Amino acid sequence: MFHVEQNRFFQPMKVEDVKKIIRDVPDFPTKGILFKDITTAFLDPVCLNFMIDYYVDLYKDKGITKVVGIESRGFFLGPSIASRLGAGFVPVRKPGKLPAETVKKSYDLEYGSDTVEVHKDALNKNDVVLLHDDLLATGGTMQAAISLMKKCHVSKMYVSFIIELEFLKGIEKFEKEVPIHSMIKY
Ligand code: AMP
Repeated sequence: MFHVEQNRFFQPMKVEDVKKIIRDVPDFPTKGILFKDITTAFLDPVCLNFMIDYYVDLYKDKGITKVVGIESRGFFLGPSIASRLGAGFVPVRKPGKLPAETVKKSYDLEYGSDTVEVHKDALNKNDVVLLHDDLLATGGTMQAAISLMKKCHVSKMYVSFIIELEFLKGIEKFEKEVPIHSMIKY
């Protein structure tokens, strides 16, 4: 209760408020990129709780057994959502970070390629999975994570983002069978 009383928001928060709190950082990490900095939304405890409640409300009746967070900003909210849904949390990580046996998927970037990995024994055919990442840009990262889920034979998938950059049309890369939700669209 302490944090709520201390906070400057006396009205219930709305998605529009989160949108205002997210910070734009021009030319990061390279010139020409407008970086959506979500760390400002995590600074504010009311905003943080609003975001957790938002996803819990959306997915509470879906029978989610595992929340899968994508390295690294999918790790910010993923475990909190999982805990509230009564689900486990599974990290999808960059190569060489996970210690036990993994399944891997490589994907193309504008220049070169990248790989994501998940522990082979973390998921199985009984799992209903909520994949979570901070931002959908071209969709390559989430597509690769979905391929990993297929390799693990999970029974159903949902995908959630905090932000979708609609003008990049990443959403067009996804199969219609996978329900995708973005809290904020630009
Ligand atoms: P993509 O695979 O192109 O959809 O890129 C998604 C990943 O890149 C996410 O994990 C984001 O964290 C990061 N990303 C891409 N573009 C931005 C951006 N403009 N601002 C913040 N993060 C970004």
